[in-house]
Amino acid sequence: MNRTPTDPFLPPQRLLLGPGPSPVAQEVLTAMAQPTIGHLDPAFIGLMDELKAMTQTLFNTKNEATFTVAGPGSVGMDACVLNMIEPGDKILIARNGVFGMRMSEVASRGGAVVVPLDFEWGTPVDPAIVDAALAKDKDIKFLAFVHAETSTGVLSDGKALGAVAAKHNVMTIMDCVTSAGGVLIEMDAWGIDVIYTGTQKCISCPPGLSPVSFSPRAIEHIKARKTKVLSWFLDVTQVMAYWGGEGARAYHHTAPINSLYGLHEALRRLLLEGLENSFKRHRAAHLHLVAGLEKRGMEMLVAPACRLPQLNTVKIPAGVDDPKVRRTLLLDHGIEIGAGLGPLAGKVWRIGLMGEGARTESVDRLLAALDQIMAKEHA
Ligand SMILES: *Cc1c(COP(=O)(O)O)cnc(C)c1O
Repeated sequence: MNRTPTDPFLPPQRLLLGPGPSPVAQEVLTAMAQPTIGHLDPAFIGLMDELKAMTQTLFNTKNEATFTVAGPGSVGMDACVLNMIEPGDKILIARNGVFGMRMSEVASRGGAVVVPLDFEWGTPVDPAIVDAALAKDKDIKFLAFVHAETSTGVLSDGKALGAVAAKHNVMTIMDCVTSAGGVLIEMDAWGIDVIYTGTQKCISCPPGLSPVSFSPRAIEHIKARKTKVLSWFLDVTQVMAYWGGEGARAYHHTAPINSLYGLHEALRRLLLEGLENSFKRHRAAHLHLVAGLEKRGMEMLVAPACRLPQLNTVKIPAGVDDPKVRRTLLLDHGIEIGAGLGPLAGKVWRIGLMGEGARTESVDRLLAALDQIMAKEHA
């Protein structure tokens, strides 16, 4: 087609079964299309309060410092890490995939001394090894880890890692970008100090927002900093004054108003379904996918005990043209799946069953399309 830049953009129909973004319900899109109001309008402030309450439920926390950062999950990572660390602070970062690596990049740019603890990609963070590392170096102040590693499809044990951190009296930062809404998070019960997630994975909202939460201990720590937070925009004490709601809500930045309408609707849908029901739905779709792939002779990368229901890494069968299959899936069947990253590039596909995508019907559509493509490939 001969398009010109001023033609309206009409996105193609896609079934998003990759590592994010996930499919977005029409109700969420409709909510985002409501008229924009002022960000200090009492009606909008009411919406911010409801978002805070729903986010507290999502994380299972009572933390007052629970709000949404304007920016995707990566901005939440920046906000959480940069508010906690000061130059010279030692932080143990458990790395079992891309996002653990990225956390160490953020921390080292912030001047922290990163103590890396590497685990084989496709395996979880081992609490016993973390325990030993923390016992060996008493100067370590923080433990950071990724709850659900989207690059490999592995779930680590947040409860066990929280307990190990408590034993050594270090504060914890947990990446929940892919876990929130798909598997259980108990921020308070597990003793996690700082959490961030993103809207575009199991919350099924367009990308661009990052719900975060800080424990009272984390806020005390931030208030006692000797140096200013590297980023003005992400300085939690200032952002909190904006989200605080004690009647004195101060202008800090202009919230992405319509995006927050969308998040409100997405969280509302999730909580009306019930978190437990959402976890069950993710698990059912996952089991259905694994059974279908195994029936076709394909093999999963990750051991059953630590598989992430919402992100499935399957080994690409020998002789299959990885980029060609993914391109055909997308362009001929309208289905997006993800490629492998880093050492797993060309070796696995990453099939996301996140949020609205976590349905057995979506799995059936994908398997049928794969069958057609593979039959042609080998004809
Ligand atoms: C997607 C993801 C991020 C980054 O989120 P964006 O919304 O892409 O910025 C961080 N951590 C994990 C585990 C993720 O899956």
